[in-house]
Amino acid sequence: MSNPEIAIPSRAPSATSADDTVMPFEVAALDLRGRVVRLGPVVDRILSAHAYPQPVAKLLGEAVVLTVMLGSALKIDGRFILQTQTDGPVRMLVVDFTAPDKVRACARFDKDRVAAAIAAGKADAGALLGKGHLAMTIDQGADMNRYQGLVALEGGSLEDAAHEYFHRSEQIPTRVRLAVAEELRVGEGGASHSWRAGGILLQFLPKAPEGTAPHALPEDDAWVEGRALVSTVEDVELIDPELSSERLVYRLFHEPGVRVFRGSEVRAECSCSRDSVEAMLKSFSQDDRDHMVEDGKISVTCEFCSANYVFAPGEVEAKAD
Ligand SMILES: [Zn+2]
Repeated sequence: MSNPEIAIPSRAPSATSADDTVMPFEVAALDLRGRVVRLGPVVDRILSAHAYPQPVAKLLGEAVVLTVMLGSALKIDGRFILQTQTDGPVRMLVVDFTAPDKVRACARFDKDRVAAAIAAGKADAGALLGKGHLAMTIDQGADMNRYQGLVALEGGSLEDAAHEYFHRSEQIPTRVRLAVAEELRVGEGGASHSWRAGGILLQFLPKAPEGTAPHALPEDDAWVEGRALVSTVEDVELIDPELSSERLVYRLFHEPGVRVFRGSEVRAECSCSRDSVEAMLKSFSQDDRDHMVEDGKISVTCEFCSANYVFAPGEVEAKAD
């Protein structure tokens, strides 16, 4: 069945799970490719820094997984930005992935509407987002073209939006599963919570038929099988620290056979700095800066990482030219 000239060593799936990683894989027999994302400290650091209401944090965590899943596949330097803009209680999510491994994220929401949604038991992703759009932008720097793909959000989840995006824009049959949960640990110091997240992306990428060799399996059957397998993945399997990414794909695809590739790591890191905030303040008018002074100082909090920068008004006065 396989090409005898290429010897691919096979081994048992690793039992050791690694957090904050992306693992690409391939199921050659079904023309499937995909990636598994596992986030521990990275998603906990991002979500804990914000202290958003729990359903908002969970939704932003899903957006982080999706962004890491897609951004880590780019073979370029630059940034991949996922942004929602909608009319629901959560009006904006922004996740920013800077190649090769940095991610940061924040949300804007209406406190009262989020509280009302929680009280009404209607705080799932679709209800929180409402209607609007999801934009995915690839930014390769000042001199390069920006690419932006847009997909409508119609009260569905981020998974739904991803399927729609790949269907319409890329015409690649795609299935995405995203999961986020709070893990409760009871130790000597009492109970502690930490966020965990994970996801799996599966895409059907049949090779163009070469010469007269027909495809052995009708395309649809391979994709129907792949899609069915990935739909059986439960949230707990995507976040369980005891189940390695390799074991997860082996569990799903051991029959057709699955090959894994060297993965990459992800870090929660913001690009803000005292220098960049200072430069921004200096670009404002004196009048705008005067309005920012409170108790004799100017305080700026980064919306992405909650870092706080404090300046004396004299420090950020623009130089007269
Ligand atoms: Zn920051």
